[in-house]
Amino acid sequence: MDNCIFCKIAAKQIPSSIVYEDEELLAFKDINPAAPVHVLIIPKKHIATLSDADAQDGVLLGKMLALAPKIAKEQRCDVQTGSDGQVSGGYKTLINTGPDGGQEVYHLHVHVIGGPKPWRGQR
Ligand code: 5GP
Ligand code: ZN
Repeated sequence: MDNCIFCKIAAKQIPSSIVYEDEELLAFKDINPAAPVHVLIIPKKHIATLSDADAQDGVLLGKMLALAPKIAKEQRCDVQTGSDGQVSGGYKTLINTGPDGGQEVYHLHVHVIGGPKPWRGQR
């Protein structure tokens, strides 16, 4: 897609801090992080919003979601259960859709937001 910033990131025409890449997906650090860990997972193919994903994109959507815990683990913000049973860590996964959903970039992305609190605002 011309003029889509995340298509340009996927094509490496714009630099980004990439944390994961395969044939279909790219994950990179958000330029304006809301928390110590803030990674965006995108499909390399252009899908404008979650509502533009069709039935054939189901597997791709599943792969995006399944990547989130792997990234959280690599970025050291995965949920942990201590030997005393105490649960700590963890992260937020978020998809903003459309203006009322707070979407600013119209190329589907899953936010993975985590790390020690406090975080900027609450999203
Ligand atoms: P949205 O509000 O669309 O869900 O989130 C868009 C996110 O993309 C924002 O958190 C914003 O900081 C991030 N972002 C916008 N432009 C760029 C960019 O050029 N590079 C990177 N790495 N992140 C970007
Ligand atoms: Zn795009």
